Amino acid sequence: MKKLKLIHSLKFRLFLIIVLVGILPSIILRFGILASYESKAVSNRSIDILSQAKMLGSQVLTYNYMTDTSVEIINAQLEQLSNIYDGRVMIINNRFQIVKDTYGLDTGKTIISEEVVKSFRGEEISKYDGDNRYIELAFPLKNAGTQNVLGVMLVSVSTDSIMFNYDYLKKNAQVIELATAALVLAFALFCASHLVQPFRKLTRSLEEIQTEDGEEELMISDYTETEAISEAFNEMMGRMQVIDESRQEFVSNVSHELKTPLTSMKVLADSLLGQEDVPAELYKDFMGDIAEEIERENKIINDLLSLVKMDKSAGSLNIALVNINELLEVIMKRVKPIAEKQNIELVLESFRPVTAEIDEVKLSLALTNLVENAIKYNKEDGWVHVSLNADHKFFFVRVEDSGIGIPEESLEHIYERFYRADKSHSREIGGTGLGLAITRNAVLMHRGAIKAHSKLGEGTIFTVRIPLSYIA
Ligand code: ADP
Repeated sequence: MKKLKLIHSLKFRLFLIIVLVGILPSIILRFGILASYESKAVSNRSIDILSQAKMLGSQVLTYNYMTDTSVEIINAQLEQLSNIYDGRVMIINNRFQIVKDTYGLDTGKTIISEEVVKSFRGEEISKYDGDNRYIELAFPLKNAGTQNVLGVMLVSVSTDSIMFNYDYLKKNAQVIELATAALVLAFALFCASHLVQPFRKLTRSLEEIQTEDGEEELMISDYTETEAISEAFNEMMGRMQVIDESRQEFVSNVSHELKTPLTSMKVLADSLLGQEDVPAELYKDFMGDIAEEIERENKIINDLLSLVKMDKSAGSLNIALVNINELLEVIMKRVKPIAEKQNIELVLESFRPVTAEIDEVKLSLALTNLVENAIKYNKEDGWVHVSLNADHKFFFVRVEDSGIGIPEESLEHIYERFYRADKSHSREIGGTGLGLAITRNAVLMHRGAIKAHSKLGEGTIFTVRIPLSYIA
C-alpha cells in the first residue's frame, strides 16, 4: 500500500522524469559514439592498408615476384607490411596457388575462396569481422598495360589495436556515465522534493485552518496552480461561512420567537400568583391570554416544521396530477370564515380548467399562506381576488388584495425567515414571519417562480408561476 502511494506521488514521478532525462541521453551517446568510432577506425585502417598493399602489388608485378619469390626487396616489404599491421599477406597466382604466405603456413597450397574468385574477376573486396576482430582485403594484381588479372593479393590484419582503443574509450565513458548518474540522482532528488514543496505547504495550511490556529485565508502563490487551488478553497470557505452565519442567525431567531410567548405566559402567571384573592374573572381573563400564547407558540412550531420539510430536497415531493381549480376552491372555502370576520369579499376567478403535476399538500399550504396574508393584511370591508390561468407550459395563480401594502424597501425581504414588514401589526394578528418563506420554498421545489407587486396603502399582488408537468 505504501509502495503504491509512493509510485502515485508527484515527487516520485518528477524524480523519475529527471533521472530518465538526465541519464538516458548519456547512455545513448556512449553507444552511438563507440559504434561510430569503431566503424570509422576500421574504415581508416582498411584504406591505409589497401593503399600500401596496392603499392606493394604493383611492385610484385614489376619484379615478377610471382615466378620468383626470392626477390629480397619485395620480401622485406611484405614482412614490414605484416609486422606493422600485425597481419598476414598472401599472394596468389592465376592458377590459384599461394606463392607467398607471410605466415609461411600455406605456401604452395591452392586456395579457391569466394574472395579470391571474386578478385580474379576484377573486384576489390574489403571485409570486417567484428567478432573475430580482423579486416580482410583482397584485390586483383593487374597488368598495367593489358589489365589482365595475373594474380590476387590477400591481406588480413588484426583489429586488436582498434579494439584496445575502443575498450579504453568504453571504460572512460562508463566512469563518466556513473559520475553523471550520481550527480543526476542527487539533482533529481533535490528538485523533486523542492518542486512539491508548495503542495506540502498547501496541505499544512489546510490542516492549520482546520485546527483554527493558523490564518483564515489560504494563499500559496508559489505556482499558478496552487494559487488557483487557494482561491477556489477561499471561495468555498466564504460560501460555507455565509451558510454558517445564516444558520446561526436562524437558530437565534427561532429561540427569540419561541421565547416571546413563554415570557408573556410567565408574566401573566406571575402576576396572578403575586396577587391574593384574585377574582375569578381576572383568572379567566389571564388564562385566556395564556391559552392564546400557547396557541401562538404552537403555530410557530408548526410553521417551523413545515419549513424544515420544505427545505428538504425536491426528492421528497409527492407528485400527482391535481385539478388546480378544485384545489383553489377548497382553499377559498377554508379561509372564508376569517375573511367574513373582517367583512372582506373573497373572489375566485378561473379562466380555464387546469390540471398539473404537483405535490398537493405543499402547494396547497403555499397558496393558503398567500390568501391568508391577503386577508390578514387587508382593511375593513376590503377584497381579495384570486385568479387562475394557464398557457401550454405553466399555470399562474394571482392573489390580489386591497390591503395595507408592503413598503418598497421591505419587498426584497419578505421571503426571509421571521421577516415582518410591519412588526407590531404582524404579531398582533398572529403572524410568525415564516409564511412567505414556506411559500417560496414550496414554489421553488416545484421549479416555479413567485413575484410580488405592492403599493403602500393600496394593496398587493402576488403572482405564482408553476410548470404544468413536473421536471425532476
Ligand atoms: P407573517 O406570519 O408575519 O404574515 P409572512 O412571511 O407570511 O409572515 O409575511 C412576511 C411579511 O410580509 C408580513 O409580516 C407582512 O408584513 C408582509 N406581507 C405579507 N403578505 C402581505 C400582504 N398581502 N399585504 C401586506 N403585507 C404583506
